[in-house]
Amino acid sequence: ARPLLQVEQLVKHFPVSGGVVKAVDDVSFTLHPGETFGLVGESGCGKTTIGRAILRLIEPSGGRVVFDGRDLLRLRPAELRQARRDMQIVFQDPYASLNPRMRIGDAIAEPLVIHGIGDKASRRERVAELLRVVGLDPDYATRYPHEFSGGQRQRIGIARALALEPKFIVADEPVSALDVSVQAQVINLLADLREQFGLTYLFISHGLAVVEHFCAQVGTMYLGKLVEVAPTRQLFTQPRHPYTQALLDSIPIPDPTRRKPHAPLAGDVPSPLAPPPGCRFHPRCPIAVEECRHQAPPLRDVGNGHHVACWLAS
Ligand code: SF4
Repeated sequence: ARPLLQVEQLVKHFPVSGGVVKAVDDVSFTLHPGETFGLVGESGCGKTTIGRAILRLIEPSGGRVVFDGRDLLRLRPAELRQARRDMQIVFQDPYASLNPRMRIGDAIAEPLVIHGIGDKASRRERVAELLRVVGLDPDYATRYPHEFSGGQRQRIGIARALALEPKFIVADEPVSALDVSVQAQVINLLADLREQFGLTYLFISHGLAVVEHFCAQVGTMYLGKLVEVAPTRQLFTQPRHPYTQALLDSIPIPDPTRRKPHAPLAGDVPSPLAPPPGCRFHPRCPIAVEECRHQAPPLRDVGNGHHVACWLAS
């Protein structure tokens, strides 16, 4: 099948006083219809920037984003508006993205109004249907965001994202702000919607634990670079990059049979304003060799769909 999304050598630089932050540096990956790709890394690694650059909520500095056969970075504004109907985002904190003075029914209907879809009555019906789809009572449409719990607000954010019947959703840390008990419910909802509507997700998360059962493929990011990409099972059982190994070791579920403990990470994430030369991970890498300090390892295919950017990985 044709890929739904191809991200090719995506670059995003932010000029700041004193230099340029290379927030995303030469990142490529492909998603097929119905797939879920998990993008994982510590805050500041560039994963959120990638999600926004794909949707062109921020302008990429370079590279290509091909969605459903169209090169998004070359579309004219009217064409981009049309393409945006197919691509939506669910934010970490729906409360920040919902207008506190707007009834949630109006917030969910807003994308329909913006795109001139339906009349008032048909939009009201659609809102009721969307509320049902995300597991909320249609009568809630007249209430305000503050009347809901965090998990319910995230359901409202998801209902709004579904209003235009998108094919693709960027889920940017959709459960990170929620209680652990609620996280699984929202993940299950996203999984149900994936089945029901054939959705494709880019699922952004700072932790690996959340992506394990939800994503078919996972990519690990470090300081703007994709350092490892693999089918989820493989990434969890045979992580090849020392950074992924460290992230996995930090998951607080003791399962000593699953993998050998690796050396812990040293130090903090360096500033993206002055990333280390060579392999950006070398100052913290427990197995770095001299070459790592000078040469940046490319992301290379090590078989079975597993890609890794490390000189020592085989
Ligand atoms: Fe560590 Fe070198 Fe591999 Fe980078 S290339 S992860 S520094 S061993």
